[in-house]
Amino acid sequence: MQQELETLKDWIDHSDNIVFFGGAGVSTESGIPDFRSVDGLYNQQYDYPPETILSHTFFRRNTEEFYRFYRAKMLALDAKPNTAHKKLAQWEQEGKLKAVVTQNIDGLHQAAGSKMVYELHGSVHRNYCQKCGAFYDARYMLESKGIPKCEKCGGIIKPDVVLYEEGLDDATMRGAIRAINQADVLIIGGTSLTVYPAAGLIDYYNGNKLVLINKSVTPMDSRADLLVQGPIGEIFSQL
Ligand SMILES: [Zn+2]
Repeated sequence: MQQELETLKDWIDHSDNIVFFGGAGVSTESGIPDFRSVDGLYNQQYDYPPETILSHTFFRRNTEEFYRFYRAKMLALDAKPNTAHKKLAQWEQEGKLKAVVTQNIDGLHQAAGSKMVYELHGSVHRNYCQKCGAFYDARYMLESKGIPKCEKCGGIIKPDVVLYEEGLDDATMRGAIRAINQADVLIIGGTSLTVYPAAGLIDYYNGNKLVLINKSVTPMDSRADLLVQGPIGEIFSQL
């Protein structure tokens, strides 16, 4: 373990083109639960699994129930960036890191100071009226009741979050692909790499310093040049 950390430190010290690709595990240490890990709590409070509620069809047909879940489970606005978020922002300021690619929608990388962030699944901090396109922040969504409506035209507001059945944003995908394709060191953390098409991004990496940081085994372990096992916050605190 110590040896792996030393190698990772060395790669980071000598690179000015690091890209980080992260998933839900990056934010769990900020108190944001991975909604995919369905527990008894969900089953008691909701009639459908999260994957159903967070789908395009469900949003259209059961908008009020969608927002009941969304406000309770997706809008953790009091969460603060953790060690991993802060370290990544610091590396960017030092000119070492080029981009963060994330599957998270919580905005914690930007809260930590990161500028170049590709949010593959969108952000809870951007919400738009479906009729007139007016912008609303996450606080407005949290404080709304029932179905959030536009103050200007009465249209229904939709979060700029990629729901199940919806495609990823083209420009975001292109930017993420370019950053990964050109990266010297690619660090992947806090994702089980099972969600496509995001998981396919790893195929665009051309280098020989692919680092996987994870608590448990992933299907991609064999492709890593360096495997670091442990909670991501704990690992980053030692870098
Ligand atoms: Zn409107």
